[in-house]
Amino acid sequence: MANSRVYENPCSAPLPSIGAALEEAAAQLDSKSQSARLDAEILLGRVLGKERSFLRAWPETRFDNVQADRYRELIESRKNGMPIAYLTGYREFWSGNFKVGPDVLIPRPETELLVEMALEIIPSERPMAILELGTGSGIIAVSLAMERPGASILATDISSAALDIARRNAARHRVDHVQFLNSDWFESIPDAEYDLIISNPPYVAAGDPHLVQGDVVFEPEIALKSGPSGMNALESIADQARRWLGPGGHLLLEHGHHQAGDLSLMLRRFGYRDIDTRSDLQGHPRATQSLWPGNCRDSEFLCP
Ligand code: GLN
Repeated sequence: MANSRVYENPCSAPLPSIGAALEEAAAQLDSKSQSARLDAEILLGRVLGKERSFLRAWPETRFDNVQADRYRELIESRKNGMPIAYLTGYREFWSGNFKVGPDVLIPRPETELLVEMALEIIPSERPMAILELGTGSGIIAVSLAMERPGASILATDISSAALDIARRNAARHRVDHVQFLNSDWFESIPDAEYDLIISNPPYVAAGDPHLVQGDVVFEPEIALKSGPSGMNALESIADQARRWLGPGGHLLLEHGHHQAGDLSLMLRRFGYRDIDTRSDLQGHPRATQSLWPGNCRDSEFLCP
């Protein structure tokens, strides 16, 4: 049939239908990924610019050459372990779809607990000053900004590549009340008083075996690893935050599931009160909030 020639690749065999390519890709990924078919579908949807429902409804659709090559490349990268979020460039978090890339951590569902707790702390009607340290892709700052139009938010990161992504995510979600600043924790933070300081800092112990497994291998080490017990960043943030919190201000930190006890003790030692740890959906103690009752100018309170 003359018509079928339209689809033929003159250099090699005719391009397969997307349905056949999907089956082949899923089989290739089977030994490499626990979600082989889903991965193959997501990447195919990305290449075609279509929803996954399209793939099911129209499996006979043909690729063009560029799409076929792109799909092969993506499947190859996935076979080598590259996380899906880096291959598609996006990940859902809270109520948004966020741009991500190898310069930032891939958003985790457990970090939504931090947003949930922050929203309980921030009344919707009152303008409040929020500082986020180590914003990465900006998911926390941007999600809070979307929920709290009256808040003024400063989000920092030591990595300017991460800040570029965070700025794009703020623009993408049309929030203009988040400022971004390049800073090594508190080093470049202007002298100001915050109602809430929030952070999902690196908290994995240097020798933790999960640093060499799965998606984590491809993520920036600087966003994951923090000293021999994983507590270095948590400690330095909790210590310094006292200078930037107004009386009655809150510190809210994500942490590893074995760190809640040590972190709570440390917070108490630093003079924080109302220390409260909550667990994520898997039941792991994952985030701790505390209240700073004092004022570093007052000798009753010990400050750094
Ligand atoms: N929850 C992440 C992990 O276990 C670590 C994130 C972090 O260090 N902030 O991979």
